[in-house]
Amino acid sequence: MQPLLWERVRDVWLFQRRAQSGEVEVTAGTIVYGALIRAFLVIVGGLSLASFFPDFRRYWWLLLFTLWGMVFYPAYRRWSEFTRHVRQLKEELLCGSCRYFDETGQLCTLLDEHVRPDYIPCEGLAWEARREWEE
Ligand code: SF4
Repeated sequence: MQPLLWERVRDVWLFQRRAQSGEVEVTAGTIVYGALIRAFLVIVGGLSLASFFPDFRRYWWLLLFTLWGMVFYPAYRRWSEFTRHVRQLKEELLCGSCRYFDETGQLCTLLDEHVRPDYIPCEGLAWEARREWEE
């Protein structure tokens, strides 16, 4: 199913991608890069407003609220969602116990593909136990 227009705008703002199935792919990298880009845009926007309206500097606290509401809080929410998703993948999927599974990117490092609940890239054929489980 195609995302709606507002979902696309939100995806761009949150710097997130969607799989072909339409499901949002949350990775640590997109959370960090998205927060950095949003912080840059908010700060540049705040400085631009301050240069056009000198009185705007008296309301510097607005910039803090904007940073919280548009940068840090969305990043915090996405990070919570990311950790929950990784925990769920580790518990429910074969990949969670495989040595080639990279948690931060939810990636199969052997095939360089993202793992999803409905998609195991190797279909289980290349699974190898994690080393720490063998010890
Ligand atoms: S090798 Fe197979 S089981 Fe292991 S992480 Fe990659 S897709 Fe998952």
